[in-house]
Formats: sequence, C-alpha cells, structure tokens
Amino acid sequence: DTAIVLFNRDLRVHDHPALAAACERAGQVVPLFVLDPSIPGDARHGFLLQCLADLRASLRQLGGDLVVRQGDAVAETMKLAGEVGAAAIHASADVSSLARRREARFAEERIEFLRHPGVTVVPPDALRPSGGGDHYRVFTPYWHAWLRHRHRPVLPPPHRVRLPSGLAPGRLPRPGTDPAMPGGESAGRERADRWLRQFLAGYADGHDDLAGDRTSRLSPYLRFGCVSPLELACRAERSEDFVRQLCWRDFHHQVTYAFPRINRENYRHRERRWRHDRDALCAWRRGMTGLPIVDAGMRQLLAEGWMHNRARLIVATYLVRRLGLDWRDGARHFFQHLLDGDVANNSGNWQWVAGTGNDTRPGRGFNPLRQAKRYDPAGAYVRRYVPELADVPGAKIHEPWRLPSLPAGYPARLDGTDG
Ligand code: FAD
Repeated sequence: DTAIVLFNRDLRVHDHPALAAACERAGQVVPLFVLDPSIPGDARHGFLLQCLADLRASLRQLGGDLVVRQGDAVAETMKLAGEVGAAAIHASADVSSLARRREARFAEERIEFLRHPGVTVVPPDALRPSGGGDHYRVFTPYWHAWLRHRHRPVLPPPHRVRLPSGLAPGRLPRPGTDPAMPGGESAGRERADRWLRQFLAGYADGHDDLAGDRTSRLSPYLRFGCVSPLELACRAERSEDFVRQLCWRDFHHQVTYAFPRINRENYRHRERRWRHDRDALCAWRRGMTGLPIVDAGMRQLLAEGWMHNRARLIVATYLVRRLGLDWRDGARHFFQHLLDGDVANNSGNWQWVAGTGNDTRPGRGFNPLRQAKRYDPAGAYVRRYVPELADVPGAKIHEPWRLPSLPAGYPARLDGTDG
C-alpha cells in the first residue's frame, strides 16, 4: 500500500518520525510539500525554497523524491492521495492555529491521518502540571518536568524511500534572492556540527556578548525543522545553559498549543493601553530612534534577517516600555523580517517582554543604556551596524547626545529622556 508524508516545518530526513513510520509501514511512500500561494512571501521564502531543494536531493539519494504541489495543503494532498491510492497520511504535529486547523480538516477526510512528534524536543501536550491545567504557565516548573521526561529515540534516516512509479515530482520555484543564511538540512547539520565542536563549551559565558556573536544561529534551521530539536538537545547535553534555551522553545510551543490566539490576544488578559504613534513605530522599524543600541539591533534585523537574543530583548523592551507601543506592532515587524520568525517563539517572547505573557515579574525595570554598556562594553556591536557612529570611540558610542554635536546623519533621541 501507499502512504503520503506531508512535510511542513520538518524539512529533514534525519530523526523524522513521520517519514520513518511511513517507510516502515507502507510499501510505497510519497514525500510531499504543498506550497500555498495564499501565504504571502516574506523573508523566509527564499530560505524555504533552499530547504526544499536540499530535502529533494536527500530524498533522491534514498531512492525517493520530493513531490511539490501548489495550492491549499489539504485539497492538494487529498487530490494526490486519490491519484496514488494512498491509504494514510503521515505528518509532524504542529502548534500554530493555521497548522491545527489543517490537522482538523484532515481528520474529517476519509483517510487515516497520523500525527507524529518531531517539531519540539518534548511534544507540546506531553507534560501536565501536577496542580492541574492543560499546560505550564511558568517556565521553571516546566523546565524541571522537561528535564525528567523520557525521550523517544533519535532516528536515523530511512534506508530507502520507495516511490510509486510514474509520479511527476513537480517544479520547485527558484529563490528570487538568496537569504542571508543558506537554507536546508545539509547547511543546518554542518552549522550544528561546527558550532557544537567549537563554541558549545563557551556558551554559558559568551551567549550574551553582543559583539562576540557566539550563539549558535541555528534558529532558522530549527524554525524549518532542518535540524531535529531532539537530536540537538541530546548532542548538546553537556551545556545546561544551551539546552535550557531549547526548553524555552518547547515552553512557548506548549503555551501556543494550549492558547493558539497567542499572536493576537494578551495571554494573561491583562488590559494594557498602548499609544498610537506611527512616526515612532516607523523610526523604530528603520533603526532611527537615536538610541544606538536599539538602532544597531533593528538594523541587524533588516540586514541579516536575524538579531542577537540580547538585542531582541533590548529593542522589544524599548518599544513597549519606553515608547509605550503595542507589542503586536513589534511582533509583526519581527515576523516579517526574521528568518526564524515563528508564531510560538515570536509572540511568546513579545508577550513575555510586554508583561502580558507568562513573565513572573512583569513590572521589572530594564534600562537599555545600562544593557548596552554591560553587553556591548566597547561599542563594537553598535559600530558594526550603525555606520554614522563608526568614528565615535569606545563606550562613548552609546551616548552620542553627550558629544559636542551629533554625528552627521544620526537622529536625535526619540524618547527624549537621559538615561
Ligand atoms: P541560541 O542561543 O544558540 O539558542 C539555541 C536555540 O534555542 C535557538 O535557535 C532557539 O530555537 C532556542 N531559543 C533560544 N532562546 C529562546 C527564547 N528566548 N525563546 C524561545 N526559543 C529560544 N526565536 C525564534 O526562533 N523565533 C522568533 O520569532 C523569535 N522571536 C523573538 C522575539 C523577541 C522579542 C525575543 C526577545 C526573542 C525571540 N526569539 C525568537 C528567541 C531568541 O531570541 C532566538 O531564538 C535566538 O536569538 C536565536 O539565535 P540562536 O539560534 O543563535 O540562539
């Protein structure tokens, strides 16, 4: 018999429970990806297309192929199921409202639909707080439960993918522009190998150093599932600090699974009043707020489709606390430009910063200038992304308003305060 494996944000052949199960149970397997033209192209589009090209190459090496169709995922999958006489569809379970709606539609079709783990280290519905409730609202108890969880085994790629004969694989569009990082499982695994070897040991001390840029930058690969989060967690076991970050990712996914409206509504339903100020929002987006550490982060985002975590915290806090603007405006801009932009991590972190999410200390102070001096003491990060300030020496770069005159082209401070 024949089974379809519907790929989505699990674009790999290593440690892929859905692919492994289909290859084990069915005589013939059709790996499928459906490009949905109704989902607007964004920063991630080129990265996605590279991921698909790489996945197709890997599947071909295993004797199979990646079948690509365009249109609505459910309609196209069912159409293909009819053409090849498939008896089952295997897919990795996901948490966003879009993915959940898709799963619900498949469940109504007259075909066996099987959901598999693989998008997170621990499946989003695997841990339940002992005090009741369907998910954890606070990170630390989740972390303790997460550490105790017994994992499924990490799976090798299947030996062979047997495709039904006479199937047209379908054309893959060429990426319009090359993304700042190469997409795909091969590039992701290479990056993981190199980074784990060279930098994992220094992660605890170096991950907050803005200019040092010592974090893994694996987030786009995790976003598209080019790298298995479980395999990564196992390989990185000796650094608790790093594994904890993967747990944060799982944490936001299990919140999103329980609260799929996370990108639209305040998770804790705290009423906050936000200011409306289009000019301020525009200045923030462009990296022209007059606060160098904020501008450096925002320009890194525009230049690379990625931003250091410490900078994300600084620019997000600045938007919601200094400028008093709605976190959703910030999250939308991030989502549009980040290669790793995903609903759970983006909205979860924005709500955490805005104090509308699961932060246990939502009112705590956070001074961007103090952060700048602590995490970019010599100003090297700012100098890299804000060329107007490149000639300002040392830490003075963080307070250009103290210079005899502002460097040409650099704006005065938008928030007007001093400190
Ligand atoms: P590393 O430090 O090497 O960490 C390894 C992995 O752990 C990351 O790739 C990521 O998958 C996960 N991780 C690390 N920190 C977090 C965190 N705070 N929350 C959840 N997972 C984490 N991350 C995204 O993947 N997508 C987003 O859309 C996103 N939006 C964010 C928005 C804001 C306002 C903030 C403050 C953080 C956001 N993050 C997001 C989390 C974090 O900033 C990035 O995951 C991290 O910077 C990616 O770089 P890295 O791969 O080098 O991380």
